[in-house]
Amino acid sequence: MANPYARNPGLANTYMTLDQRGKVQAEYIWIDGDGEIRGKTTTVDSPVNSIKDLKEWNFDGSSTNQAPGGNSDVYLRPAAMFPDPFRLGDNIIVLAECYNNDGTPNKSNHRYACKKIMDQVTAQKPWFGIEQEYSLFDMDDKPYGWPKGGFPGPQGPYYCGVGAGKVYARDLVEAHYRACMYAGVNISGINAEVMPAQWEFQVGPCEGISMGDHLVMARYLLIRIAEEWGVKVSFHPKAVPGDWNGAGCHTNYSTEDMRNPGGMKAIDDAIEKLSKRHEAHIAVYGADNEKRLTGKHETGHIGQFSAGVANRGASIRIPRHVAAQGYGYLEDRRPASNIDPYQVTGIIAETTLLQ
Ligand code: ADP
Ligand code: MN
Ligand code: MN
Repeated sequence: MANPYARNPGLANTYMTLDQRGKVQAEYIWIDGDGEIRGKTTTVDSPVNSIKDLKEWNFDGSSTNQAPGGNSDVYLRPAAMFPDPFRLGDNIIVLAECYNNDGTPNKSNHRYACKKIMDQVTAQKPWFGIEQEYSLFDMDDKPYGWPKGGFPGPQGPYYCGVGAGKVYARDLVEAHYRACMYAGVNISGINAEVMPAQWEFQVGPCEGISMGDHLVMARYLLIRIAEEWGVKVSFHPKAVPGDWNGAGCHTNYSTEDMRNPGGMKAIDDAIEKLSKRHEAHIAVYGADNEKRLTGKHETGHIGQFSAGVANRGASIRIPRHVAAQGYGYLEDRRPASNIDPYQVTGIIAETTLLQ
């Protein structure tokens, strides 16, 4: 199907194979004042081996809802770097933290506070695994592949679906999966979701601060690839109103104690602590999450903390195999698809290890 908005990749390829004469392109990306990802490129004189060799850079924060016009410079401090699956070769994507003129972290920079927490709990080796659900839309803001002026059949055949009419945009999803692997993102799987045109990818296990870094990179690659397909990615927790599943970011979590035999006690202790800070967690578990956490569609109600083995209607689920073997990890099912992963992993570590 010809897409009038997609660029012509064959045309660009002619230029993408031209010699770079030893120079490197570094794409700096960051989270803006609305939680969206932005990026711009700088040329570096030679291949980069360490983020320490990358410059601190800046941008106009008044254009990204990150600073007032009169004092608009926001600084980009490199935090992590990944091989660039678009430009290939020695080119890199640089995940940067945003800082204000006075040296304080920008309001969009939740990595800063998360890092402070993670630095205090390194001995516990906190691991996270995030299941990122998302929905695809066409350029007319209709769910991708849905019949024009109508609806697909009710939910049922789409989850992990195979075959025409049951699954949409598999080519785009496959491209994203491979791009993540190329970039060194710790992607652990994909599946089609319950709502047609909704998918999930999983990233993890990742230790400490790297969970947020890898999830943001995976999101960036997805949005960037979908741009080439002329497809919009929505991380809204209830992308389509009505009897359609919302989208979450189930966050799996373990510490060293939980992963060792007898770890069930550490899991139970963590759940007890989580139960006492439900509201504080919900406050950073995504905007519009009340539209998703209704107690229906495999969710627990937003107003009430609950936990259970194999219970997909609870706030916290202990996977069946974890309960059976007596150690492993827990799944926090509350986070919405639009979370800032640094806020979520930060508060989970704080509540379970520092309270
Ligand atoms: P679900 O059972 O909800 O379908 P998935 O299999 O989709 O879960 O995703 C589980 C995620 O949890 C994966 O990203 C995986 O890497 C991660 N994970 C596995 N073991 C652990 C662990 N011990 N601690 C934290 N995360 C883990
Ligand atoms: Mn899953
Ligand atoms: Mn899950």
